[in-house]
Amino acid sequence: MNPIPYGKQHITPEDIQAVVETLQSEFLTQGPKIKEFEEAFAKYIGVRYAVAVANGTAALHLCTLALSVKPGQKVITTPITFAASANCVRYCGGEVVFADINPETYLIDINKVRKLLEDAPKGTYQGLIPVDFAGRAVNLEEFRQVADEYGLWIIEDACHAPGGYFIDSKGQQQNCGNGNFADLAIFSFHPVKHIACGEGGMITTNDEKLYRKLLTLRTHGITRETSSFTNTLDFAIGNAKEATHQQPATSYPMWYMEMQELGFNYRLTDFQAALGLSQLKRADAGIERRRAIAKKYQDAFSNKSFVKGQSGNIEGHAYHLYVIQVENRLGLYQHLRSKNIFAQIHYIPVHLMPYYRSLGNKEGSQSHAEKYYQHCLSLPMYPSLSESDLNYVIKTIADYFE
Ligand SMILES: *Cc1c(COP(=O)(O)O)cnc(C)c1O
Repeated sequence: MNPIPYGKQHITPEDIQAVVETLQSEFLTQGPKIKEFEEAFAKYIGVRYAVAVANGTAALHLCTLALSVKPGQKVITTPITFAASANCVRYCGGEVVFADINPETYLIDINKVRKLLEDAPKGTYQGLIPVDFAGRAVNLEEFRQVADEYGLWIIEDACHAPGGYFIDSKGQQQNCGNGNFADLAIFSFHPVKHIACGEGGMITTNDEKLYRKLLTLRTHGITRETSSFTNTLDFAIGNAKEATHQQPATSYPMWYMEMQELGFNYRLTDFQAALGLSQLKRADAGIERRRAIAKKYQDAFSNKSFVKGQSGNIEGHAYHLYVIQVENRLGLYQHLRSKNIFAQIHYIPVHLMPYYRSLGNKEGSQSHAEKYYQHCLSLPMYPSLSESDLNYVIKTIADYFE
């Protein structure tokens, strides 16, 4: 019997064909597939701009750069997330402050965020990084109100939630990453996520100024646009000294570019974009299957006292993960492993990682997150999970407790 992991990519012959065609084309990077992928992804999410980058962590780093996080500035995020959600603040020298989760939703608790903001002088905090953990959308309409009150920006970490949404106060569907409430949102195309590029990421926004800045920062801070710094046409042409003796230049030559700020090489390749584009075509079907798997888990465990699932309104859940909480988690985890089922833990609270402890974070400071960590387990959840494997997982869990 094949091992059953908690998450897994699904590659079809069409995906392979798309990659091969790109490998045989003229461009391996920064060719037409990047733009095509960006436009298709923006359309899928329902957002104006999308910027494809090397991975989700690079996406987060470019966001904190674009929003000018500076040493000493404070940013709030959740302890129950992948470390990258917090690390992007540290890359710019900023300070990460954790706000505990809501024990029912496992998402960052807006009341905890409010408390941090109320207890500090105005201007202490610069921004918020809420995470659509497990694929469940944060209600960003509420977070926007708080952010506006305190002059904060919002980066939505939507790595778990392409295709996820929440319903706003007017009854409208608000897709994760649609830029209606957050300044910037980010996605990852790591193989365990909804869309696989091998490595890959995307930033989405409705803000044109931030969009232009991200494009430049993605490639070294180099741009064809000209600044007031050096932009005499004669300098650009290369005849600055003789300018007065020659015909004055009237347009910039094609080669002329300027490095205006310190950027990075965070580009995605064209063959990765081709894979992403091909996978995007199946995104809706993938979500549908994920929701069907979740329903089956829910039904199977609804009257079992040994399993507690995510509660509350779960409409719009994108189910990157199916998380349960159980007593004797270690025992169940090991039992499942012995039966070839590789469940996983998401996550060890970020504030308790040695690096974040070394910055002053202490055990006991985020009690809901710490309690959640003692009991959480992510069950197999991926579109190609077969019905028979799913039944086997459910039966193996029930057998363990009964
Ligand atoms: C996967 C993930 C990231 C990082 O994405 P990479 O593409 O692996 O760099 C960031 N945040 C969350 C919540 C993630 O799950």
